[in-house]
Amino acid sequence: MTQNFLQRFRTVRPPVSVLFQFALVLYSTFLSGSFLHAQSADRPNIVLIVADDLGYSDVGFNGCQDIPTPNIDRIASQGVRFDAGYVCFSVCSPSRAGMLTGRYPQRFGYERNVLYIPDDPAMGLSKEEELFPARLQQAGYRTTLLGKWHLGAHPELHPLKRGFSEWYGFLGGGHQFHPDSLRIKDPMQVNTEEGSYRTWMNRGLEPEKETDYLTDALSREAVSFIGRNSKQPFFLYLAYNAPHTPLQATADRLEKFKQIPDKQRRTYAAMVSAVDDGVGRVLETLDKHGLASNTMVIFLSDNGGPLHHNGSRNGDLRGMKGTLFEGGIRVPFAIRWPGRIPAGVQYDKPVSSLDIAATIAAQVSGQPAPKFPLDGTDLIPFLTGKSKGAPHKYLFWRHYDQKSYVVLTGDHQKLLKRGDSTYLFDLAADRRETIDLAANEPRLLKLLDRERLNWDAQLKLPAFLGLSQRDEYIRSRQRK
Ligand code: CA
Repeated sequence: MTQNFLQRFRTVRPPVSVLFQFALVLYSTFLSGSFLHAQSADRPNIVLIVADDLGYSDVGFNGCQDIPTPNIDRIASQGVRFDAGYVCFSVCSPSRAGMLTGRYPQRFGYERNVLYIPDDPAMGLSKEEELFPARLQQAGYRTTLLGKWHLGAHPELHPLKRGFSEWYGFLGGGHQFHPDSLRIKDPMQVNTEEGSYRTWMNRGLEPEKETDYLTDALSREAVSFIGRNSKQPFFLYLAYNAPHTPLQATADRLEKFKQIPDKQRRTYAAMVSAVDDGVGRVLETLDKHGLASNTMVIFLSDNGGPLHHNGSRNGDLRGMKGTLFEGGIRVPFAIRWPGRIPAGVQYDKPVSSLDIAATIAAQVSGQPAPKFPLDGTDLIPFLTGKSKGAPHKYLFWRHYDQKSYVVLTGDHQKLLKRGDSTYLFDLAADRRETIDLAANEPRLLKLLDRERLNWDAQLKLPAFLGLSQRDEYIRSRQRK
């Protein structure tokens, strides 16, 4: 009997062992979290690609003729192009603060470009604020920033403390593109804007010497990140500093645009082309790993083109970067999410970069609720046609130092205040902002101005001195 039992035991032993090993794998998978964090439809990957100072009409999908952008255009042709896509501010730093919090940056006193001051924890995005990548992290996402931060250089304000699992890039408002120019090893030893453009890259907390042209380096890192994280949900914030100044391009791409006679425009074109090449590499990598249908890809510029500073163009829009005319705040903007939103569609109602956080909050399961109410709207129901009407009754802007405001209605009426002057434009008929209707529409003017004052009452004063007040800042520190 004992022998029989042993024989039986021997005969059942292999299956028990297999079961045990299977259970062990399941258990360790559970412990490592990868079971919880596998790719799934209710936790799509998110790729947010931001160009810097790219003009409204400098992509093919907005009619650009002299700079081919076939890869950026693919996002629009396989998704939705926003004709009236806005950013929440007309310069880099506050625009990014608003986009990543999903809140009007003026609510927390952020309406100036930060100075590069690594020993001042108040020079940047307040730690009271929450960035949406931090919520994605809590939902099991691997999150990365590749490229430009520009939300504060103090170590307490760095990306790794604000919701990013990884980071490769730089802290300031721009950077030299050619690796030979990056001669300062430690980014924490610099306290001028000019110096901040010449530092090595940060790989997490470590300085790293870059050997590629910067735009290509960031694209390389994006390809690597997607490859390393293809089995779990990820958020890739690819923040190119191109085509922001300094105007520097690679020889092969300059050669490609030799037919453009103006040297500034030629270099700018070569820089935009490098961004487009990078977008192509990102889309190819998503295809290669079978991730395209479960990945939301968003592309936009952080503000309008600054025109003569970098050779950008805003088409027929009035104004440029820094102003609250359309040319400062209306940007190339497109989103692709195959199978979830339609392809090849143009969406005309005003949308905002503030909507990115709200859209992600509504589409990704397993996130905690936002710490503060978001100012944006989930755009997906509007893009699928489930929600009719306009995503926003009103959108607002304030540029404190210029004493400027904008109130934009869902059907594209625009109140613009600049100092003591008030204008009213009907952008649906006059997107060039040439016909001031203020005198004809006193009731609408009064209504919009009341909305402006209600919104303004919720805002803080600017929390720090910015790029335009550098001397004042230095003096104030010397007094302390
Ligand atoms: Ca910018």
